[in-house]
Amino acid sequence: MPTKQIVFCENGEDTDWDRLTKIINLALKHKHFSMAYQPLISVNTGKLIGFESLARCQSPQFGLISPADFIPCAEQSGQILELGHWIIHQALVDLKCMMNQGLSDICLSLNISPVQLLHSDIFELIMSLVHTLSLPATAIKLELTETALINNPQKISNVFNAFQREGIQIWLDDFGTGFASLSLLRKFNIDGLKIDRSFIDGINNNNDDFTLCSAIIAMAQRLGLQIIAEGVETETQLHILSQLGCDVVQGYLLGKPNTLNNNLEIWVP
Ligand code: C2E
Ligand code: CA
Ligand code: CA
Ligand code: CA
Repeated sequence: MPTKQIVFCENGEDTDWDRLTKIINLALKHKHFSMAYQPLISVNTGKLIGFESLARCQSPQFGLISPADFIPCAEQSGQILELGHWIIHQALVDLKCMMNQGLSDICLSLNISPVQLLHSDIFELIMSLVHTLSLPATAIKLELTETALINNPQKISNVFNAFQREGIQIWLDDFGTGFASLSLLRKFNIDGLKIDRSFIDGINNNNDDFTLCSAIIAMAQRLGLQIIAEGVETETQLHILSQLGCDVVQGYLLGKPNTLNNNLEIWVP
């Protein structure tokens, strides 16, 4: 269990990044990474529809390290290719396990780094796991942030098309926080949007946040896109989102990220 949480410099001071790179190497070698799964809940039915997979790093030496620290570092160092490979493999093995334990209709959302999208055989990797584990490809969703979509749009489109032909959905993560959210919706074929937590935070007490959320949801509906609201922490937020016609919610109110086994205990009937 987590003992302490180390905080690394946000602007990536050299020594911190070097240190973190070494910690990631050790963690890859000694299997200090693990996966957590956070439930996605249908607003209409209140039922579990799936999970988002979230990477964790528990270093015996340094304690619990946040993905907000180790993912950007691993992206910069290139370690994300090996780490990302491990994450996809583990998450799909766990998805199979959840399905076998009775959660047969669930989906799994995987966070994908830009580096992984452009510099790894991510399509081949996922499809080979789909075949060896005999998973329905339609159960898999990929979450990408805007920054992933800035460089090399042609290649990205091709990769997206390949996935979508197999029934794997492409979702835009942290929607609304970047510079180009709307233009990306024109440029790429996107299946759904995750409204960033920063908008949900203020939905019940900030008029602008409420207006933005309702506009994003209305726009998504018109464009035929699905919507997930992330970071839902209160009944009031849930109630407002439900009134606005949001499809799916995720957040501490509905369930925190948890281990595979804990989730099986909670969700398997
Ligand atoms: P994200 O993809 O936006 O993931 C949602 C984050 O919000 C998670 O933080 C989750 O634990 C947190 N969260 C969920 N509900 C609530 C809530 O109600 N309140 C609050 N305060 N927080 C909530 P986490 O797990 O620390 O991950 C941080 C970020 O690290 C992720 O943001 C994602 O960008 C990145 N990340 C995590 N796992 C992976 C991974 O496997 N691959 C990649 N490429 N990135 C990952
Ligand atoms: Ca995400
Ligand atoms: Ca997000
Ligand atoms: Ca985020």
